Amino acid sequence: MESKCEHCGDVHAIVMQEQRRKNGVVIGYIQCPACHHRSVFSVTTPQIRELQKRIRSVKSQYDKAKRLKKAERLLTEYFNLKERIGLLMQPLIDQANEELNQ
Ligand SMILES: [Zn+2]
Repeated sequence: MESKCEHCGDVHAIVMQEQRRKNGVVIGYIQCPACHHRSVFSVTTPQIRELQKRIRSVKSQYDKAKRLKKAERLLTEYFNLKERIGLLMQPLIDQANEELNQ
């Protein structure tokens, strides 16, 4: 898989890196080999990873659901979880992007 650096335009293979911080925070990012600009694509906390675990479980229950009512309930829960994860993660991604590119 290749990616183009949003900073300098260099095209290179994606290498994902991880930085573990105190309090169980894990930052996932890719780094451009040419200009060393870092792009954060995920930041997780124990709370976010718990929600991710739940969303995976909801997804697999949805895949197996046979009754429409149940499938609808699971789908609603899936999108609620997805939204919550996004709202929690986005400010952390913005913050990490700033920190890693100082
Ligand atoms: Zn670059």
